[in-house]
Amino acid sequence: LSDKFEGALRKLSGKGKISESNVREAMEEVREALLEADVHYEVAESFCGNVLNKAVGAEVLDAVEPGQQMIKIVNDELIELLGGERSVDPETGQIIAPEHIMYVEPGPTVLMMSGLQGSGKTTTCGKLAGYLKKKGKSVMLCAADLQRPAAVTQLQVLTEQVEAEVEGTGSVQFYGEPDKVAAYGEAVGVAVDVCRNALKAAKREKVDVLILDTAGRLHIDEDLMGELRRVNAAVMPHQIFLVIDAMTGQDAVNSAKAFNDQLELDGVILTKFDSDTRGGAALSVKSVTGKPIRFIGVGEKLDNLEEFHADRIASRILGMGDIVSLVEKAQEQVSEEEAMALQEKMAKGQLTMEDFLKQLKQLRRMGSMKSLLGMLPGVGKALKDIDLDDKQIDRTEAIINSMTKAERKDVKLLDNSRRRRISRGSGTDQKDVSQLVKGFDMISGMSKQMAGMGAMNRLSAMKN
Ligand code: GDP
Ligand code: MG
Repeated sequence: LSDKFEGALRKLSGKGKISESNVREAMEEVREALLEADVHYEVAESFCGNVLNKAVGAEVLDAVEPGQQMIKIVNDELIELLGGERSVDPETGQIIAPEHIMYVEPGPTVLMMSGLQGSGKTTTCGKLAGYLKKKGKSVMLCAADLQRPAAVTQLQVLTEQVEAEVEGTGSVQFYGEPDKVAAYGEAVGVAVDVCRNALKAAKREKVDVLILDTAGRLHIDEDLMGELRRVNAAVMPHQIFLVIDAMTGQDAVNSAKAFNDQLELDGVILTKFDSDTRGGAALSVKSVTGKPIRFIGVGEKLDNLEEFHADRIASRILGMGDIVSLVEKAQEQVSEEEAMALQEKMAKGQLTMEDFLKQLKQLRRMGSMKSLLGMLPGVGKALKDIDLDDKQIDRTEAIINSMTKAERKDVKLLDNSRRRRISRGSGTDQKDVSQLVKGFDMISGMSKQMAGMGAMNRLSAMKN
């Protein structure tokens, strides 16, 4: 999908000016690419219609290449289609972070997995348990798939694997009643009993999150839906996730629709996103079901789970680091003189902590720092191991505020005793101070490189 998109858009990007027919032509190709990627017909139609409307309505600025603007429009529309940049609580208007969906006070938060056989429910249970363990939560995994003894064992083995392999301050335990497997199929409600018992156990053990691994079928049938509805009524899960296999494309979307009609889903988890056929299912699910994708599975291993961020997937589909919007955001926030001065300093490698602090404040206004820096091609990988969230920015500000003027100018002054003083003054760990200095070194190195590559020159050229 991403190749096709790139091809269609590249044709436009060379042009000095875009006409309506140029856009129509490009959108024709994009539409074909979408259909080929198994995107629902109506979804593809309305997507292209929207892009066309926006493109024709938009003033094409002389300063910015029109092709770039097209990419921006397509990108925005993709984000919209994928469910919007951020999940917002319709009642409070607050942004919902994925981890808040997974855990509400007081526990146990009950999460229920549903989906067809082989979609990846059990694997995802293990991945989610690991995700929560890393966040310090205690998790109980309940084997509510009683179709085969092997299904119960699979979850049990997975639980042990999470306990052994995933590092984190949380914990994972298993709940199962393998002896009930024999009764399953003979009597209705066996799985419901297991879930009910698991909830009791979860309360007794005071675990934070209980995850129910329910049974699937090869096809949707009344049997399965009835069971899921009964489990739902008995334990009232906080979140019902539908697990769907991205590889099955249009089928995945159809089953999502059927599940959603029968069961009040809260969110979708898209597995096997590491496969080549990705894209289609992701692009249709939100508009067909109205339910957001929360996570994507990107491999068989325990840590192959990612929070779903529409903006990142959109730029992956577009096949490029989203440098366009980075430049745009930078343009909005940084005044021209500031940008020029900074550019010079960066090029000379004279970036100071003071500049860094200013940048941080600007970055905060621009949005999440990590996603912002992640937009730079190649930088995303380097940043993966560094935790840069808003809280981190708060801490960083506090640390820099505790530095003297001289220290801000020259980080080399920061010996151990100064670091200790700063960490005390800012109420942070000494390791936070060291981390900041390390991060600063990296960023100033990177910015020197960027300036070398001419990225900053491009940025300033676009302003004129
Ligand atoms: P369930 O029947 O829904 O519980 O499905 P399972 O969890 O047993 O998974 C079925 C198969 O899909 C297994 O071979 C998994 O390893 C594989 N699988 C699950 N999630 C992913 C994923 O994100 N990527 C890949 N490549 N394989 C996955
Ligand atoms: Mg299973």
